[in-house]
Amino acid sequence: MAPNPIPPLALREFLDFLREQSQQLRHCPECGSVFEHLIATFLLYGETWDIALPVCPKCDLRSSSHTVVAQKAAA
Ligand SMILES: [Zn+2]
Repeated sequence: MAPNPIPPLALREFLDFLREQSQQLRHCPECGSVFEHLIATFLLYGETWDIALPVCPKCDLRSSSHTVVAQKAAA
């Protein structure tokens, strides 16, 4: 049985929701630090969404994998 594809409309709504929410998040709920934002571009059927993903400079950059991502973004 083939997996059901996710309807494009649902994905668009999700990306719109994500973009709205990411703009409203200013402070980390864990430590209260001001979020930094990493711009991520999502492509879907020829449309693009530039979404500023909130990253806490204290909590999210603890692990080495996140540090590598942050360094690449800054380069
Ligand atoms: Zn934090």
